[in-house]
Amino acid sequence: MPTVLITGANRGLGLEFVRQYADNNWKVIATCRDPETAKDLYDIQGDKEILPLDVTDFEAIEQTSELLRSEKIDVLLNNAGVYDSDKNGLGKTNFDDWTKMLRINTIAPLKIVESFISQVVSSKRKVIVSISSLLGSLSANDTGGQYAYRSSKSALNSVNKSLSIDLARKGIISIVISPGWARTDMGGPNAAVDPIDSVSGIRRVINNLKPEDSGKFFNYDGSNIDW
Ligand code: NDP
Repeated sequence: MPTVLITGANRGLGLEFVRQYADNNWKVIATCRDPETAKDLYDIQGDKEILPLDVTDFEAIEQTSELLRSEKIDVLLNNAGVYDSDKNGLGKTNFDDWTKMLRINTIAPLKIVESFISQVVSSKRKVIVSISSLLGSLSANDTGGQYAYRSSKSALNSVNKSLSIDLARKGIISIVISPGWARTDMGGPNAAVDPIDSVSGIRRVINNLKPEDSGKFFNYDGSNIDW
């Protein structure tokens, strides 16, 4: 049975990943900031382990890796993320918020990869997936704004490209993928994509990955997104 580790698993896309992987008989290691309030996560049936993890706490990431040192992690899923709806705009940028966002959206995913490489290498599938966004695509930016969020996801894409090169000799495939505009707390009620479809599309992409896909920027429907 393959194993997936998911960050930000208590709600939104993370919770849906837990549901679908558990339904498909994967072993799920579901991490979230506050398991005590994660009722929906506990309600999901299947082979799952719920662990506390705030991805900005790098010591906690290392401790969690140590706790899971004998696990083989087939898919390491960097899902946790935050969004700022550009409420400030140019001239009113909140630079402290931007710094915090970069730590969650960009830097933590690399810290998680660094901490869990040995568990991924020892697995059969050896896949790392970081959830990016179309807003991280430079060529798709025709509306401006969103300085913090856009840059955090563009930088995540850059991190992934280097990972794909550095980890190729270990047999690891590392990709970034956009979930589409999905109806979660982040996407809001008017978003176009049902989280069920977003997550099932991403799972399909993951299942079909080949070594030559490493480093690519996918959409949840399997198409490629321009940088
Ligand atoms: P939600 O806002 O619904 O959920 C965000 C998740 O991230 C929550 O579980 C939240 O936990 C967790 N999280 C935030 N900060 C931390 C932290 N410091 N440590 C651990 N977990 C944290 O968002 P989505 O489910 O929609 O988003 C999932 C991913 O998809 C994100 O990376 C997002 O950027 C990306 N994405 C989403 C899109 C959409 O339309 N929904 C579009 C493009 C990309 P908590 O409950 O504790 O806050």
